Amino acid sequence: MQALMMNSQLMISSILKHAEKNFPDVEMVSVTVDNPRHRQNNRQFARRCRQLANVLKRLGAKFGDRIGTLAWNDYRHMELYYAVSGSGMVCHTINPRLFPEQVAYIINHAEDRIMFVDALVLPLVEALKEHLPKLETVVVLTDRAHMPESKLPGLLCYEELLAAESDEFDWPEFDENTASGLCYTSGTTGNPKGVVYSHRSTILHALAGSLPDVTGASNLETSLPVVPMFHVNAWGAPYAAMMVGTKLVLPGPKMADGETLTDLINSEQVTVASGVPTIWLALLDYLSANKMTVPTLARASVGGAACPRIIVERFRNEHDCTVVQGWGMTETSPLGTVFCLKKGMENLTTEEVTDLQCLQGRGVFGIEMCIVDENNEELPWDGKAFGALKVRGPWVTRGYYGLSDVPGDEDCPVDEKGWFQTGDVASITPEGFLKITDRTKDVIKSGGEWISSIEIENAAVNHPDIAEAAVIGRYHPKWTERPLLIVVTSAGKTLGREDVLGFLQDKLHKMAMPDDVVFLDELPHTATGKINKLGLREIFADYEFPAA
Ligand code: AMP
Repeated sequence: MQALMMNSQLMISSILKHAEKNFPDVEMVSVTVDNPRHRQNNRQFARRCRQLANVLKRLGAKFGDRIGTLAWNDYRHMELYYAVSGSGMVCHTINPRLFPEQVAYIINHAEDRIMFVDALVLPLVEALKEHLPKLETVVVLTDRAHMPESKLPGLLCYEELLAAESDEFDWPEFDENTASGLCYTSGTTGNPKGVVYSHRSTILHALAGSLPDVTGASNLETSLPVVPMFHVNAWGAPYAAMMVGTKLVLPGPKMADGETLTDLINSEQVTVASGVPTIWLALLDYLSANKMTVPTLARASVGGAACPRIIVERFRNEHDCTVVQGWGMTETSPLGTVFCLKKGMENLTTEEVTDLQCLQGRGVFGIEMCIVDENNEELPWDGKAFGALKVRGPWVTRGYYGLSDVPGDEDCPVDEKGWFQTGDVASITPEGFLKITDRTKDVIKSGGEWISSIEIENAAVNHPDIAEAAVIGRYHPKWTERPLLIVVTSAGKTLGREDVLGFLQDKLHKMAMPDDVVFLDELPHTATGKINKLGLREIFADYEFPAA
């Protein structure tokens, strides 16, 4: 028997319509190159989105076209998110921090004909233009007064285009499985691969992400996504916030600037902010160096890389702010797991709660997960057994753009049983908390035992004089591989090998103690702010452990 429910398609434009009707006066505050504090409300936002939809039509964009963006977190990028997807095109967000060759590869692979580019990123497009044969139209995200000098012919000005269009536009309804967004993963090996989101996956992800035990997004909150809109849709904040009427504060190009972030949090009364650990360490350092605090900030969401304990402790002790760690990937939209205590955990000590915050969180409805051993046998959720992590669900990718989506094929990340192979190694506690121990390729195999590089790194960065730490496995004649710890000390501090080993002595089991500690002025990072282990392996390619 068929149900009698309406078959309304899940459309991104419906979020916009909902926000305009229900939260017309909710503000969106942005930092842009041409305005340090731009403000508009959702009524103005929705009107400009309709004008932008008319601009896209006038520029000749067709249903299904990929529209490229090279932009920071601000209101114009938000307008692109809604107008592009809402009119049936694919919002292709590109990370400007990737290597220029990768940016060119991505633009060509996606066949972007029209691109919207922040003025600060224009030099990148100028430098690449001759390698982008399909690119026809470049729109600069600014007004006439701030249009940069450029040798690119036919550059268009965003505000001029918008001003010339009517604010009437009927958002079309079409199949909810239509592509709405495209984001390439910045893999450390091989070419970047495109993950294609749909209207349906985006809406389900935003709904699940807004549940009270997930982000608890609400009309009462003010949210500062420091995680970039060019990387996995800023973890879905642009959709969830409009759905529930959260005020958005968008830091523009100032994502790594402690002073601007502090000012935004305090002047706009931000209650929740999200970002990768590096951003939070920088902000915490800025706050303590300037003897400042962020009284309104109740929760800091951390993801993208393991959250060092020191971040949890400093946010709690210095700012009375709860760290909420989550795990996810470009391929999972990204929401997979998020920290939240369970009933019965009310009486845990602060230390015990901190232990749980340092794990990657619990499963969110919609994401099924399992861990398997080398024979693909499922492992128990006992907090001890660890193996390859697999997930599946309606906002997990089933293939990459232009590659095979036939489960089991070499190019397809999904196995015959329909599980997406994350490439992460993890254990899961009996309470369902995920503990990521490594990327499959970063695991150190020492005398047959698996050693977690993340565990050693986390222990090391808790040293007050260590700014950053990374662990890679290096060849060892007896154990095959042993951990090498690479350390960057905090500004003005010096440490020796023995100081670090002494500090780690009671924090790691014997097998995980690094065989050597070396110091660098800085670590190589990927374009998404993660430590580039491949780069480190190249630097230490000829490294040999000192004789015991
Ligand atoms: P990306 O697709 O670039 O966002 O990278 C996804 C990868 O980042 C995951 O597969 C993990 O290896 C890593 N990652 C994301 N969140 C966490 C976390 N909370 N702890 C440890 N690793 C994480």
